[in-house]
Amino acid sequence: MIRKARLSVHTFGCKLNQYESALMTERLCEDFAVSYQSEKADVFLFNSCTVTGEAERKLRQRYRSLRKRNPDSLFVVTGCYSELSSEELQELGFDAVVKNKDKTTIETSLRLLLGNNGYHDASVADCPVSPGALEGRTRAYISVEDGCRNKCSYCRVRLARGSEIRSKPLTLVKREFENLISGGFKEVVITGLNICFYGEDNNSSLLDLLTTLEEIDGSWRIRLSSLHPAFVGSHFLEYIVGNPRFAQHLHLSLQSGSDRILSLMNRGYNRKSFLSLVDSARKLNPYIAVTTDIIAGFPSETEDDFYDTCSVVEEVAFLKTHIFRFSPRPGTEAAYMADQVPEQTKRERAKRLANLSTRSSLRYLTGSLGHEREVLVEKVSGVNSSGTDEFYVSHCTRTGAVGQFLRVVPEEICWGGVEQNGSFHLRSMVIR
Ligand code: SF4
Repeated sequence: MIRKARLSVHTFGCKLNQYESALMTERLCEDFAVSYQSEKADVFLFNSCTVTGEAERKLRQRYRSLRKRNPDSLFVVTGCYSELSSEELQELGFDAVVKNKDKTTIETSLRLLLGNNGYHDASVADCPVSPGALEGRTRAYISVEDGCRNKCSYCRVRLARGSEIRSKPLTLVKREFENLISGGFKEVVITGLNICFYGEDNNSSLLDLLTTLEEIDGSWRIRLSSLHPAFVGSHFLEYIVGNPRFAQHLHLSLQSGSDRILSLMNRGYNRKSFLSLVDSARKLNPYIAVTTDIIAGFPSETEDDFYDTCSVVEEVAFLKTHIFRFSPRPGTEAAYMADQVPEQTKRERAKRLANLSTRSSLRYLTGSLGHEREVLVEKVSGVNSSGTDEFYVSHCTRTGAVGQFLRVVPEEICWGGVEQNGSFHLRSMVIR
């Protein structure tokens, strides 16, 4: 019996990359014994990210450390970082670079690279992951679109992924969705580079897609990944908010609360329109959770600009705020703008924002106490179960099986524990 080569997948960056890693895994599991993040393997596949300098630094660090322990293994890299800097990564020592567009035929690329070393005659084994499954057995992802025609001045990902919108045909998304539901998944996250553009190239729209999926039977819910604040219309909002098929959670990337900085970022909305969007959503559902991303220290950001951002965080009471220090990305407009903010100032602003975001999150959660929620149980450990509700809040309960929806009443806010990242969760009583 010829042994299967061990292949270790290392994913960096966004949900789209995670989805594509799962897809590649699905295609590779016939030829390889695939695992995620393993430190010993015959082949390492890095799915890279270029969103920040930090994401790239982490990849290089992981590569060096794994190469030391696996000097004879084959290292292959794909994803946005390698798309834009393939020479740099080959100089670092990667044996091969696979283009983003070839991720869907990754098994062909690896077969060519490995040649006839005997690994590929192994018998077909069960796939170690279900298609699209990324977070245990309850939540799965479907990527519906690639490409972004916005021109955010700091974004390097759009350079790697391109401005041409490529939407997955609606019938294909529906089939993928049905497969996941019949495979036992209870929550499906609709993701893509900018899902607001879904359908522009095939005479459809995100709303068309969601209304089609809504018809599918079963006990499940849909969560939407990031929505660009400039492209969320009132009709769309009215359809999503309050609809029990959809998580009552909007991820709206604010990036800055200063109109001057938003204009330099080329984001296409201003502070007032962002706040009015949140306000419209909260009129439809006062508890709707809003999460966001903020860049601290964009070129020329003054204390006044930063104050404007802080005041939006205070006003909205975001459930979660992902804070990034501005990172000048090669090839982007913002990297060459005047008045780059010193690193020390960026660090200090990011820290102040983190404190503010903790208070903001706490304020949102305080409003949840005593109100019924629906938790999807994701993990059982000893006598405790944990899961996420329709608002994207983590809960800990005393009963519940993985994959079960529970009606609960939150009783207490706790710090750390349920989530690895040490954010808040609610201790809740199960009522049915
Ligand atoms: S919306 Fe802006 S940040 Fe997001 S992918 Fe498009 S260009 Fe990049």
